[in-house]
Amino acid sequence: MADNKLYEILGVSKNASESEIKRNYHKLAKEFHPDKNPAAGDKFKEISYAYEVLSDPKKRQVYDLYGLKGLQEGGQGGGFPADEIFGNFFGNLFGMGGSRGCGQGRGPVRGEDTMHPLAVTLEDLYAGKTTKLQLSKNVICAHCKGVGGKPGSLISCKDCRGQGIKVSYQQIAPHMTRQFHSRCPSCLGQGETFNEKDKCSKCKGKKVLNETKILEVHIEKGMRDNQKIYFRGEGDQQPDTEPGDVIIVLQQKPHEKFKRNGDNLIMKHEITLTEALCGFEFVAKHLDGRDLLIRHLPGEVIKPGDVKCVQGEGMPIYKNLFEKGNFYVKFDVVFPENHFANEEQLKQIETILPPRPAFVMPTGEDVEEVNLMDYFTPSESSRGREEAYASDDEEHMHAGPGVQCAHQ
Ligand SMILES: [Zn+2]
Ligand SMILES: [Zn+2]
Repeated sequence: MADNKLYEILGVSKNASESEIKRNYHKLAKEFHPDKNPAAGDKFKEISYAYEVLSDPKKRQVYDLYGLKGLQEGGQGGGFPADEIFGNFFGNLFGMGGSRGCGQGRGPVRGEDTMHPLAVTLEDLYAGKTTKLQLSKNVICAHCKGVGGKPGSLISCKDCRGQGIKVSYQQIAPHMTRQFHSRCPSCLGQGETFNEKDKCSKCKGKKVLNETKILEVHIEKGMRDNQKIYFRGEGDQQPDTEPGDVIIVLQQKPHEKFKRNGDNLIMKHEITLTEALCGFEFVAKHLDGRDLLIRHLPGEVIKPGDVKCVQGEGMPIYKNLFEKGNFYVKFDVVFPENHFANEEQLKQIETILPPRPAFVMPTGEDVEEVNLMDYFTPSESSRGREEAYASDDEEHMHAGPGVQCAHQ
């Protein structure tokens, strides 16, 4: 429903031109500016707000079609390119983003959706699970049927002059004030209220009561992190408002063994050098508790960082009962410690391993044998060592940035 209120505030007709609106705004703003006319704070706020809307062709169009309510809801039904602007605007206007009911241009509008994160394990997403979630929500007060008080005894809110919005000012510089909009606390943004004696005894005039509700959330096989599960119309109830949805947002907890990438599972596995060269078997406990026996034949060498795949043992594919992604194993090879074998044994190993590349000793004055030492990157070295290097430029230059030799 449309209304003319903003045009009336600026003293112009509905067909007023942009320049006409601007002219009247400047005239009124001067007259009612809080610096000159401190008693007229509310009036100035109304003028500023009316101009803000009517000077913007997009906002003005929405206002002409749907009234103040239309501005507030960000253009119901969607499709307005200015949705986002209005969303932000009214988010600021009401502080909490609770942009409901300013008492103008009533009609069945849609309430806000409520988001709830739900932490789930990778096991839950693999096998599926039903879980119960307890929520508190507002429901229409049954005692007064959402009226809030004695029928017919509604009065316009005195604190906000029926606007549902309070405006306050903060001086940020001489002759400069900043404007704050907030929802009127007396009428909860409704613009109308009851006298104390007429208020409903159950909801105290709030029209709604808080209730605990239990939702059964069905986590289906193969659902993903951040996937949303909708409960249509389970949002907060509010008179003259179609309730929004409750949206459960799945949040997958990190898994100690597996990483998920789409429908695939990735697992890191360490093997010894012996296993890497001579074959191995190991058991991987799957997300459904099965033990997957994984064998690798002797002689098929695994190098550090190699990835192998078990087909069809990844995550179930959402809404597809018969298919699964893949299961990848990424290998790390643990090499033996220093001096794991004596000279004799090393010679034996060498007889089995592929021969070394040929080495030709260079000759002449330019050949210099140097010492090869262990080194630490700065992150590995202790803080004390880093500081020592930082204060010792000469040594720092020798070591070069990022590489520091260990003193032995
Ligand atoms: Zn009530
Ligand atoms: Zn009020």
